[in-house]
Amino acid sequence: NRQLEASFLGSYTTPDEMPRDPLPEIAFVGRSNVGKSSMLNALVGARKGVAVTGRTPGRTRLLNLFEIEDSGGGRARVVDLPGYGFAKIADAQQADISRFLEAYLDGRRQLRGIVFLVDCRRDPNPEDMEIIQVLRSKNLPVVLVATKIDKLKSSAEFANSLNALEDFYATEPLFFSSTTRQGRPELWARVNELLFS
Ligand code: GDP
Repeated sequence: NRQLEASFLGSYTTPDEMPRDPLPEIAFVGRSNVGKSSMLNALVGARKGVAVTGRTPGRTRLLNLFEIEDSGGGRARVVDLPGYGFAKIADAQQADISRFLEAYLDGRRQLRGIVFLVDCRRDPNPEDMEIIQVLRSKNLPVVLVATKIDKLKSSAEFANSLNALEDFYATEPLFFSSTTRQGRPELWARVNELLFS
């Protein structure tokens, strides 16, 4: 793996406020608690002060932007999109999140692809289908990543998870664990390909 420097650029409440220069960008989307913050930290090798935290709905409703630079001088941006599916927030706020997501996806010319995170042990539901359909409707590559695979304790559990996800999303997921970092090289390779080729 190439060495990465990551820095936090800021939180934005509307896509209009985001930097307009043409650095390639990749966005991460997932249900609240899916492990998105942990994945971003594991993926961009966060230094102190870069750590992504998604613990409070108020914070994750914002779009967080990170800049990464690899040892070869390649620069790109990583976008942490608002988590969806918070049990505790009102429908009106959920509607705000959807509008925000659509505004970003429709308006952001820098965007090269989307990473869609799903928990490997959770049964997908109609809301997940709705979200991935929105993502797929934008004519950008959508990478399905199953998180927390360290929690799968046997090859049978692994096979069940793989089958359930493949059936539902009609694509093979990449498997990832922030805890063991399993799957990190594969995910990073895919992200690199989307950003730099
Ligand atoms: P977010 O809401 O999607 O940003 O999720 P977080 O990254 O905050 O993670 C939610 C919870 O799942 C936390 O308690 C994490 O410690 C846990 N978690 C995240 N990634 C993993 C993983 O790969 N393996 C395990 N076992 N737990 C994880």
